[in-house]
Amino acid sequence: MNQTSLESFFSDVGRALGTAGVNRSAETVRRYAEHTMACGDIVPSGVVYPASTADVQAIVRAAGRHGVALYPVSTGHNIGLGSKAAARAGQVVVDLGYRMNRILEIHDKLAYAVVEPGVSYQMLYDELVRRGDKLMLDVTSGPPQGGMIGNALDKGAGYTPYFDHFGFSCGLEVVLGNGEVLRTGDGALDSATLANWHTSKYSFGPILDGVFAQSNYGIVTRMGVWLLPRPPVVRSFHFTFPDDSDLGTIVDLCRPLKMSNFVPTLFRVANDLYLCGSEGESPEYAASGGERSISDEGRRALRAKHGLGAWTVSGAFYGPSVAATEPMIQRVREHFGQGGKATYIDHADAPRHAALQVAINAFSGVPSLGELGLLKWRPGGGNLWFLPGTPMDGAVANEFQTICRRIYEAHGLDYMVMNVCGPRFARGLHVLAFNRESAGERARADACYRAMSEAVAGRGVFVGRAPIQYHDHHMAQTMASYRDTCGAIKSALDPAGVIAPGRYGIG
Ligand SMILES: Cc1cc2nc3c(=O)[nH]c(=O)nc-3n(C[C@H](O)[C@H](O)[C@H](O)COP(=O)(O)OP(=O)(O)OC[C@H]3O[C@@H](n4cnc5c(N)ncnc54)[C@H](O)[C@@H]3O)c2cc1C
Repeated sequence: MNQTSLESFFSDVGRALGTAGVNRSAETVRRYAEHTMACGDIVPSGVVYPASTADVQAIVRAAGRHGVALYPVSTGHNIGLGSKAAARAGQVVVDLGYRMNRILEIHDKLAYAVVEPGVSYQMLYDELVRRGDKLMLDVTSGPPQGGMIGNALDKGAGYTPYFDHFGFSCGLEVVLGNGEVLRTGDGALDSATLANWHTSKYSFGPILDGVFAQSNYGIVTRMGVWLLPRPPVVRSFHFTFPDDSDLGTIVDLCRPLKMSNFVPTLFRVANDLYLCGSEGESPEYAASGGERSISDEGRRALRAKHGLGAWTVSGAFYGPSVAATEPMIQRVREHFGQGGKATYIDHADAPRHAALQVAINAFSGVPSLGELGLLKWRPGGGNLWFLPGTPMDGAVANEFQTICRRIYEAHGLDYMVMNVCGPRFARGLHVLAFNRESAGERARADACYRAMSEAVAGRGVFVGRAPIQYHDHHMAQTMASYRDTCGAIKSALDPAGVIAPGRYGIG
C-alpha cells in the first residue's frame, strides 16, 4: 500500500463522510494499535467512522479504487483475541460501532431485536430493562461493552439456551468487497417490505449467513438477534470438587443432563485459578520474578480463601417460581452427589463468591465486569485465549487437562481454564495471563500457545476461535481443499481483496 494511494483514499472518504468520518491523529492511531496479545502493537494507517450502510459502501469502493486494505471492528472489545488491532499493520480500521450504534427494532411479540454494529450487550440489556424487562438476551461473561455483531461474527458464545450467538442471529445486511449490499435469509427477497428477515433462519437458496462468520468476505451493517422471554425465576446451582482429576467425573455427570436437556443452561466448569484469578494478583508471581507458575500449595490456599474447589460446576434452572424449581434442584443434587466428592453451594449463598455471581449473571442475561479481573492476575495486562474443544467424554477431558496443564507449567504460566459443557462437546476457555511488558514473558506466552495448539491438533482437536496473531498459524493447520475453498470465496466476494486481508488466515 503506497502513501499516494492512502492519501487519495482518505481524501475520497473525507469527501463522502465529512471530517467526522476520518481520524489519522497520532493518538488515535496509537490507541487502535493496542491489544493484549503476545506480539507488538499493530499500527493502522488511520481510522474511518461510517454513520450508515451507504458510508460503508463509499469506504469499500474507495478502498477498491486505491488498493487500500480495511479492517472492520464493531466495538473492538475482542480482548485477548485482538481488540481493535488490525490483521496486519497499515490496514485502515473501519470503526463501525462509533457512529452506527442504534437499536433499530425490538419486536416484543416475536422476541427479537435488530441492531447496528455498535450496539453492545450493556446497551441492549439496558433498553430491555427500560421496556419492562420482559425479554432476556444471552450475554457473554466478558466486557459488557462488547458488541453483539462483532461477537456473533467471531462465533462468540454465552451460557443460556441461546448461547450460540451466531446460531441465534437471524438475517444480516452485508456490504461486499465490491461495495454491493447483500441481505441474507428471507431478506434476500427483492421487496421493500420484508416480513421474515429476522424471524426465519432457513429461507430459499443457499444459507449464505455462515460465510460471513470468521471470514473476511464482507462488512456486516445490521443483524437480527433472537431474545428469550425473561423467566420469572432463575435458580442457579453450584458444586465444588476437590481434585484436578475430578474433571473427568464432572464431564461424565454433566453430559446426560445436557443431552436430555434437563438442565437448560450450559455448564460452566471452571478451575480454581479461572475463578480465584479474577479476585487479585497472583500471590507467587513477584516471589519467583515471574518465572514460575503458582504452586499447588498456593492454589489450595486460594481455594480455601474463596471457598471454591479445584473445579467448580455451575448451571441454572428457569421456572415460574422458586418452589417449581425445587424438584429439579433436588434431582441435580442427587446426581452430582454420586461418588461423595461434590459440595453443594445454593443459589442464595453463591453471590458471596464474586466469581459465582458472574455465573448467575451469565445465566440471567445480565452483563457483568467481574471476569475482567483475570487481566490483572499478572501485571502488564497480557491476555491470550486458547480455545480448543473436547468431546464430552471424561477420560478425554482429563487427558487434555494433563497435556495443557503440563505445557502451561513448562512455560512458567498459570493454568486457568473454564470448560463450557454442552451435550456432546465442551469448549475449553484457556486464559493465558502474562506480563506483556516483559519480552521474556511475551515470548513464553507465545511459545505456550503454539505448543498447546500443536499438541491438541496432533490429537485431532481444533480451536473454535483464535487471537488474530495466530490466524495464519491455524489456517495452515487445515486441509488444502479447505484453504482453496476459502480463497475461492474470497476472490468471488472481494475480488480486490480490500476487506481485512489476513483475517482468519484468508487472503
Ligand atoms: C475476561 C473475558 C471474558 C470473556 N468472555 C467471553 C464470553 O463469555 N464469550 C465470548 O464470546 N467472548 C468472551 N470474551 C471475548 C470478547 O471480549 C468478546 O467476545 C467481545 O464481545 C467481542 O468483541 P466485540 O464484540 O467488540 O467484537 P469486535 O472486536 O468488534 O470484532 C470481533 C471480530 O469480528 C470482526 N468484525 C467485527 N465487526 C464486524 C463487522 N461488522 N463486519 C465484519 N467483521 C466484523 C472483527 O474484525 C474481529 O475479527 C471474553 C473476554 C475477556 C477478556
